[in-house]
Amino acid sequence: MNRDHTLFRPPSEAYSLILRIADGCPWNRCTFCGMYKEVPYRFQSLEEVGVQVSNAGETWPDAGRVFLADGDVMALPFEHLRSVLQLLNERFPKLARVNMYANGDSIRRKTDGQLRELHALKLNTLYMGLESGHDPTLKAVRKRETAAEMAEAANRAQACGLRMSTMLLIGLGGQAHSAEHADATAEIANRMNPRFLSALRVIPVPGTALYEEEQAGSFLQVTEFQAVEEIRRIIQGLELDNVIFRANHSSNILPLAGRFPQDKERLLHELDALLTSGRLDTRHPGAAPFSL
Ligand code: SF4
Repeated sequence: MNRDHTLFRPPSEAYSLILRIADGCPWNRCTFCGMYKEVPYRFQSLEEVGVQVSNAGETWPDAGRVFLADGDVMALPFEHLRSVLQLLNERFPKLARVNMYANGDSIRRKTDGQLRELHALKLNTLYMGLESGHDPTLKAVRKRETAAEMAEAANRAQACGLRMSTMLLIGLGGQAHSAEHADATAEIANRMNPRFLSALRVIPVPGTALYEEEQAGSFLQVTEFQAVEEIRRIIQGLELDNVIFRANHSSNILPLAGRFPQDKERLLHELDALLTSGRLDTRHPGAAPFSL
């Protein structure tokens, strides 16, 4: 089959060996997401993975970090995932970490014993899109899980030794639900206390249902000013312990980075300075980054 579709990976996996052991996303229904819209979901047989691992082993025999693509690799059957990890451990003697995207529902379908077994085989960081802690917003964008289900999944995974890297989306509630989205997102993030928390701004891209909704006028994007207000409101509500926070994706209006709890006040001051600068567009969403 044609495997030419764009490969997505978190920025922090820039130096990892990336193995695409599945194509697309098994859910593929979130209205804001255009990542795998035209990609029929399929995961590779163990034979196919074996060939890929063997070839990669010729070129990168010392690989220490591996990222498994595409979306929600945790959705693969447990036995299959375990076999893939065993193959990686056999082929890469210096292997330290295997990371992947994992949705709440897929984590919840694994038992604690299975999560621990995968962790023992060096599964390390799970990247999970929380997007919002506000259930009406999650429902509106056709996210599969409720906020409480994602919090439960994250907490179980962490109790089994895995690290959570959680993403949230600024502006996902639109103008109608900006404040509720912010408050509920901070509350769920607090309940999760993931190792890493990152914020991106949602930008409706052509080809997605959210874009159509925006064109039809049923989804009103937050203005540039409101987007900054929203992230300030989220940060104000965060009570995290030992969490690395990033909002430095190109979609963000102001790049932010810090650790919680010690950098919270600094981040709020940076945002306050921008909010009072008069530089933000109070009527429109502002320019979208070139990369989108
Ligand atoms: S946001 Fe994640 S779960 Fe939703 S369709 Fe995109 S890849 Fe799939």
